[in-house]
Amino acid sequence: MNVVSTRRQRRTVLALLLTLAAMVGEAKPTSLRQRPSHPSAVDLYGATDPWAYLTGQFEPAKHPLFIRIRGLGPRSKRHWLRREAAEALVRMFRALRQAIPGAALTVRSGARTFAFQAKVWDLRFHSSRGNARERGLHVMRWFAMPGTSRHHWGTEVDILEFSNHYFQRGIGRRIYRWLQANAARYGYCQPFTRGRQHGYREERWHWSYRPLARHFRQEWLRRFARFPNPATALGPFAGRQTLAPLAPTYVANVDPGCR
Ligand SMILES: [Zn+2]
Repeated sequence: MNVVSTRRQRRTVLALLLTLAAMVGEAKPTSLRQRPSHPSAVDLYGATDPWAYLTGQFEPAKHPLFIRIRGLGPRSKRHWLRREAAEALVRMFRALRQAIPGAALTVRSGARTFAFQAKVWDLRFHSSRGNARERGLHVMRWFAMPGTSRHHWGTEVDILEFSNHYFQRGIGRRIYRWLQANAARYGYCQPFTRGRQHGYREERWHWSYRPLARHFRQEWLRRFARFPNPATALGPFAGRQTLAPLAPTYVANVDPGCR
């Protein structure tokens, strides 16, 4: 074996090793992509205290991670969402309109504060009948206790009509079918589906941006469980002492496709 061929062999071995190293280097991000790490607190909440964020104790219009919904018509512009959720919603709307000409995704409700939720809650609670538990259960067929609504998170939208009936015929039915088949491609899921044992009733108008909301749901449940007295975890609202212990049941029980 002469010197030249030994050098050539060394170079070949070196080239092989470099190729292998490059392959290993490329394999790493792929496996990381398959198991996305938990986002940081800054990614999820910005500078807002996590529990304040999760319970709606902040102003979405002043939060740097939120934007006004644009591109879905003038009525939708009143509402705010997390930037990622708003952008995905607009992309989903464009695809929907291609599939069903004339279809709209008008947003009726987006991010909601604790104060807003408490105002509506108290009105509904006081106009219901029975003791605190009966009134609460009546309101919670479709409306969350303040501090427990997914709408606090900026990941939720109510679209078109607050009526399952609307989504059972005509254009409403076509839109709902399309969303069932395609929403997941844009990160959206329906949390309150038919046939769940506990929690809110079916809501065909309510859609959730899962890439963020799944973390908020987990974190809400984890942090709520740490409070020795459930009522003190949430700000004031009618019936809080009686009803706050029921909150985790409602937060937890969403469609498996939204967890
Ligand atoms: Zn909703």
